[in-house]
Amino acid sequence: MAVLDICRLGDPILRQKAALVPKVSQKIKDLLTDLADTMYAAPGVGLAAPQIGVNKRVIVIDVGEGLIQLVNPVLMSQSGSEILTEGCLSIPGIVGDVNRATEVLVRGLNHKGRLIEVSASGFLARALQHEIDHLEGTLFIDKATNIREAPEDEEHLEKEEI
Ligand code: ZN
Repeated sequence: MAVLDICRLGDPILRQKAALVPKVSQKIKDLLTDLADTMYAAPGVGLAAPQIGVNKRVIVIDVGEGLIQLVNPVLMSQSGSEILTEGCLSIPGIVGDVNRATEVLVRGLNHKGRLIEVSASGFLARALQHEIDHLEGTLFIDKATNIREAPEDEEHLEKEEI
């Protein structure tokens, strides 16, 4: 479909609560494709619809284990905690340390409108929490400590932009 511009910090849409999607229509399928195209082009490992200016509860994630597309994702349970450095495609050049659950269970609709559950640990669990936060208008800088400029020479940090 299309690689779209990513909204940056300061854009009011990033602070809005995103709307539930009543049906996984063709329009939503196209949105999922645009999100994935934009995420891969960035490059990033996750993207939420508000980040491309669409106020709907739709996210995509690929932490290197395949593409996950979720509509109306809900965090059903979580356990553990771990503080790791995180960044966001909407806040380029900035990282911070965020405490997140290490294991989560997320329920949502897939691209076919079918109810699915994603059981995740480690970085995938972190990415899911980060993207679901976006749907509530919450950004990682709201939860982070030690917010700082991302060192340009540390390539690995770019992969953590979600
Ligand atoms: Zn983000």
